[in-house]
Amino acid sequence: MTSSEVINPATEEVLGSVELLDVDRVDDAVARAKSAQQRWARLAPADRAGALRSFAAVVDAHVDELARLEVANSGHPIGSAEWEAGHVRDVLQFYSASPERLSGRQIPVTGGLDVTFNEPLGVVGVITPWNFPMTIAAWGFAPALAAGNAVVLKPAEWTPLTSLRLGELAIEAGLPADLLQVLPGRGSVVGERFVTHPDVPKIVFTGSTEVGTRVMAGAAAQVKRVTLELGGKSANIVFDDCDLEKAAATAPYGVFDNAGQDCCARSRILVQRNVYDRFMELLEPAVKGVKVGDPASRDTEMGPLVSKKHWQSVASYVSDDAPVAFRGAAPEGRGYWFAPTVLTPQRTDRTVTEEIFGPVVTVLPFDDEADAIALGNDTPYGLSGSIWTENLSRAVRVSRALESGNLSVNSHSSVRYSTPFGGFKQSGLGRELGPDAPLSFTETKNVFFAVSEES
Ligand code: NAD
Repeated sequence: MTSSEVINPATEEVLGSVELLDVDRVDDAVARAKSAQQRWARLAPADRAGALRSFAAVVDAHVDELARLEVANSGHPIGSAEWEAGHVRDVLQFYSASPERLSGRQIPVTGGLDVTFNEPLGVVGVITPWNFPMTIAAWGFAPALAAGNAVVLKPAEWTPLTSLRLGELAIEAGLPADLLQVLPGRGSVVGERFVTHPDVPKIVFTGSTEVGTRVMAGAAAQVKRVTLELGGKSANIVFDDCDLEKAAATAPYGVFDNAGQDCCARSRILVQRNVYDRFMELLEPAVKGVKVGDPASRDTEMGPLVSKKHWQSVASYVSDDAPVAFRGAAPEGRGYWFAPTVLTPQRTDRTVTEEIFGPVVTVLPFDDEADAIALGNDTPYGLSGSIWTENLSRAVRVSRALESGNLSVNSHSSVRYSTPFGGFKQSGLGRELGPDAPLSFTETKNVFFAVSEES
């Protein structure tokens, strides 16, 4: 058994070490999860609902602790981390209504009675990235448990602490032992074993498109179900008829939230050419005004990058001759700090085409609506995006034309637990959240009961 150090990205202090599980430990956990699932599925729906409500209540009582842990492990600003912990509670609360509402259907047929059942899948493997450890874990485990499954959860190597704590809180809340197990370890060991294990019939993977492609290929060998939430390179499209002051003032928060380590980051700002210069004048003070610093401080808006390795990857996109329009400020000294950076490259530059996953945004001019749509869609990704216009017809036309799963008009909102979330094209497969999420953790079984004529 090996372990790995967990580092505070704002101070570079070692927070502790976490065990990295091997394949035998995973197999043992899956075997225990399998029998826990069979007992869980047999419980009355109202009892499963009650257990999830208790879990939500225990998370609610630990919001402050979970938030502090995320500040230390991931460098998220305290206000964001509190929102994330509260969101886990809300997601559990929302899906606690599902066990009693997965009612199947009764379909009119000749000669009998036809009903459908939403049967649980069994043990679901959830694999999460490091950027939003708690929330993304909850998007998988809450609807999966609600639909009658057990869950094995593998957090990312750099940020396992809040997931491990949520696993303990589930037990504290009275969820059956082994029903939700958090299994820290390497992607190539624990994650891959979820994919190859015959008793894990579904994988929910959130992470890079590169690894997601590999997970999907591995899952194909057993026709294993997958939900994939992958990368993004979303556009923030600013038309000349919008509230330009508001568009410029909010643009930094649409991309620099979580230091740009956000799959929904609007990392390409597309601006209509006739308002481009004015927009840049307004954007500069907004970017320079982003408060970057100690994530534990209440007025901090942006913390550090998650790790040294990731810092090096982001920095590789801002070479000495990069077309930097302007930059914000960031602390010096220890910690993986990176100042918000605005680039004005050519359309074909790799800063425009690749997901940087840091506080680096490209701004490009466009000519008209058709050019904006073509440029917006000129990416293999299709996760998110924003459209700024006061013209309702244009907002409808452009939002229908963009190949993206989550759009917002005159705002940068992406995620609500009550609405579906997921990507077009190489940003993913399937949807999380919203009213239908539990159905993606079930198989539909159709049963026909023949009814004989009265004798
Ligand atoms: P990553 O793909 O490197 O890792 C994600 C997870 O997969 C980690 O837990 C990792 O250990 C595991 N993993 C690695 N190799 C594996 C393998 N061979 N088999 C199974 N699991 C394996 O991604 P990351 O760097 O942690 O996260 C950043 C990426 O996640 C970005 O591309 C971002 O856009 C994406 N993301 C997408 C969403 C979304 O909802 N679409 C949300 C957050 C992050």
